[in-house]
Amino acid sequence: MKLNLRDLPDGQSPLAVARPSGGSELPGFANVRGTLTVDKSGGTLRVTGELSYDIQLECSRCLKAFPCSRREPVELYYRPGLPREEAGRKERELNQDELAVVAYRGHEVDLWPEVREALLLSMPVKPLCRQDCRGICDQCGQDLNRTACGCIRDQADPRWEALRRPKPAGRRGSKVL
Ligand SMILES: [Zn+2]
Ligand SMILES: [Zn+2]
Repeated sequence: MKLNLRDLPDGQSPLAVARPSGGSELPGFANVRGTLTVDKSGGTLRVTGELSYDIQLECSRCLKAFPCSRREPVELYYRPGLPREEAGRKERELNQDELAVVAYRGHEVDLWPEVREALLLSMPVKPLCRQDCRGICDQCGQDLNRTACGCIRDQADPRWEALRRPKPAGRRGSKVL
């Protein structure tokens, strides 16, 4: 994903991305694709757009692997490095915490390290095979998406919260055992 700045005109240019496999750098990623827009102004580059990819994720509740297609917006900034400055150095701007400006050297800018990082960070922390996945029983290991088990479960799951709330005591004189 290298750009040669001597060949790149000022203004906007499209940059097609198509990587069938993430390889060892993006393990599990497949079909990384999309079109980014490179906006060049002198030595400064702004790269924006959205990339899609396919990936196998493991559900954080039932631990099953499931295929998933995701999209991730990309926004990158590059500027020429100062003399003696290390290439690839990232600078956090004070009022734009989310935006890193990357310093480059020479006439070639490789977007891949930052694109790769953005894709890695886009992975969900707690993937779910589906929003209402019931997970596995923490006592007998039963996949609760398939069938319920007879265990009395005590897990911090908000869906069970209402059931666990103690019933008001002494109603209609009934005994609380
Ligand atoms: Zn699941
Ligand atoms: Zn169980």
